[in-house]
Amino acid sequence: MSRWLAELVALLAPPGCLACGCALGRADERLCATCVRALPWLRPGCRRCGLPRHRGRTCPAARAAFPRAWAPVAYEGVSQRLVAALKFRGALVAGDLMAAHMAANLPVALRDPAIALVPVPAAPARRRRRGFDPARVLTLALARRIDQPFADCLVRADRTARQVGSSRRERRAPGRLLIRVRGTPPSLAILVDDVHTTGATLDASARALAAGGTTVVAAISYARTL
Ligand SMILES: [Zn+2]
Ligand SMILES: [Zn+2]
Repeated sequence: MSRWLAELVALLAPPGCLACGCALGRADERLCATCVRALPWLRPGCRRCGLPRHRGRTCPAARAAFPRAWAPVAYEGVSQRLVAALKFRGALVAGDLMAAHMAANLPVALRDPAIALVPVPAAPARRRRRGFDPARVLTLALARRIDQPFADCLVRADRTARQVGSSRRERRAPGRLLIRVRGTPPSLAILVDDVHTTGATLDASARALAAGGTTVVAAISYARTL
């Protein structure tokens, strides 16, 4: 399966640098040297929310259902363009590169073959529109790289039809996020998403897993919005 996937990825790969589009010297390169140097790596900060600092505010994850959050890069510049390449251009090779950045920097405590990687589920309408789910692509690629189990055991139960006619405020209410467990969930899990912004989807996913008997070890993402 991995060779087939690699060939498919090569076919879908855009010809230039994934972030800036400039021509690349080698066929196996995905980012140009300038973009590699400009990657916004994050220094370790708050273990709870993954932010380098709270800027005088309280920790946004103080009441989150996950005990730890981590991301290798900030969501800006090159990383933002990589996420866009995966999400909006469907460049699966961008997902693999993001997984490589995560695998190379993942905290040691999260590397454990007993901990399954669980993708945060996409809203059904979005998944249908794109034909794929970026968080799932990223999680699969990461699971393969770090040799940890992959468990696609969460589904979004919120339906777009219910949102028709609802006010903007209702649509943004946290209750809108209905996430439930399907099948047999793993006993230990790390939640994976492409971008950690407010943490609301990660939190709702962690709550669903906990209700199903899973211990959520951490919520990790490729990029953290500062
Ligand atoms: Zn570039
Ligand atoms: Zn914090």
